[in-house]
Amino acid sequence: MQYHFPKAFLPDGWHDDVVLTVRDHTIEHVEVGVAQPGADVQRVAGAAIPSMTNVHSHAFQYAFAGLSEYRTAHADDFWTWRALMYNFVATLTPDEVYAIGQRLYRAMYAAGYTTVAEFHYLLHQPGGTPYDNPNEMADALIQAALEAGLRICMLPVFYQRGGFDGRPLEGGQQRFGSSHDLFLRMVDKLNSDWANHPSVRLGVALHSLRAVSIPAAQALLADVDMLLPGCPIHIHVAEQTKEVADCLAATGQRPVELLLDTFDVNERWCLIHATHLTDDEGKRVAQSGAVVGVCPTTEANLGDGVFRAEDYMQYGGNLAVGSDSHISVDACEELRLLEYAQRLTQQRRNVLCTETTSCGPWLWNWAANGGAAVTGFGPAAIQPGASAHLSLIDPGLVASVPTDRLLDHVVFHHVAGRQPVRGFTS
Ligand SMILES: [Zn+2]
Repeated sequence: MQYHFPKAFLPDGWHDDVVLTVRDHTIEHVEVGVAQPGADVQRVAGAAIPSMTNVHSHAFQYAFAGLSEYRTAHADDFWTWRALMYNFVATLTPDEVYAIGQRLYRAMYAAGYTTVAEFHYLLHQPGGTPYDNPNEMADALIQAALEAGLRICMLPVFYQRGGFDGRPLEGGQQRFGSSHDLFLRMVDKLNSDWANHPSVRLGVALHSLRAVSIPAAQALLADVDMLLPGCPIHIHVAEQTKEVADCLAATGQRPVELLLDTFDVNERWCLIHATHLTDDEGKRVAQSGAVVGVCPTTEANLGDGVFRAEDYMQYGGNLAVGSDSHISVDACEELRLLEYAQRLTQQRRNVLCTETTSCGPWLWNWAANGGAAVTGFGPAAIQPGASAHLSLIDPGLVASVPTDRLLDHVVFHHVAGRQPVRGFTS
C-alpha cells in the first residue's frame, strides 16, 4: 500500500509530496517530490510527523480525573489526592475498566498519540485475590487500545509493600500487590497470549522504590529477563519531596541515586517523573541512556514540582511525555507545559530548543524518540524500517501556517476546540 502526504517531517526535516510504501504497518520506502501520485496511491490530507508515544498511563484514573479538585485537608497534596484515588479504585470491575479504557484510548488517538505505555497496577479483585484469569484487567486494556487504533506497551506493575518501612498493603492498595511467583505467571501468560501481535509489546514496571524492596526487585527482574529478554522497565521515581526524604531516612540515599547505584540502569529503563534530581543525578541519568518520562499536566495538578529539563537536555538526556492521571489528554499540552514551566521558573523564553531548532520541533522529536525507545516499537522517525503509525497535523493548519513554523504552531498555539494533530494508522 502507498500513501501520499502533501508534507512530511523526515529525519532531515520537512519535505513536500512524500509517498510512503507500507507493508504490514512498516515503512518500506520513502519517496519525496511525488507531485502526481498514481491512481493506486491513497492521498492523505495533512502533514505526517513522527509518531508520538504516551509513555505513562494509568487508564482507570481517566474516570477519576477532575473529581478531586476540592479541599480534604488544610494543605492538600499528592498524598491526600492518593487517598481519594484509593477510595475510587476500591470497587472498579474489569468491565468498567474496559469501558474507561475504550473512552481514554480513543481520546488519546484523537489527540495525536499513536502508542501508549500502560503502567498497569490495578491487577486484582478487591482484597487482592487474583481473577480466574490473572490478566483479566490487562487483557481488557490491551483490547481497548487495539480497538482505538493505538499500539500498546503493557507494563504489569510489581507492587509489594506500603512504604519504605515495609508496612503491608492496606485498603485499595491490596488490589495492586502480587507475589514474585504470581507476577511471573502473569508475565508468562501475557507473553504467550500477546507476544506475536504486531501492535502489542510487553515490559514490566516496578511501582516505585517505596513499594518494592531492592532485593525483591532485583530477583524479579532477573527472572523477567528469562521470559522477556531486553524488555522495557519503567518505574516511578522522585515525584515528591516527601518520597525523597523518606528514601533518605530509610536508606541514606536519594531515590534516583539509589536506583543508579543498585540496578544496571540503561536504555531499557524509563524513569517516570524524576522531578526532584540533584545536578549529579540528572547528569548520571542522562549518561545512562535511560529515558525520563515527564507528565507535566499531572505533575502540575498534583503539585509535584518542575523537572529541570534544560540542564538534563544539555547533558544529552532522553525524554518522553505521558498523561499519567489523564487530567489532560493532549500531547501538545504536555510539551507546551513542559516548556512553560521552564519559562515561568527562569523568566526566559525559548528554553528547550537549540540555536538551529526551534521549540516546537525540538520538543516533539525529543519526546517522540524517547517514547519510542522505551516501548519497544522501534524508531519514531519516518524512515524505511520504521512503523507506519504516524501522527498527523490537521490539513487546515498545513495550508495556513509556514512549513518551517508548523510544529511550533501545533505545540504552542492552543485554541479551545481545535485539535491540531491526531493519530494515523496505515
Ligand atoms: Zn504514574
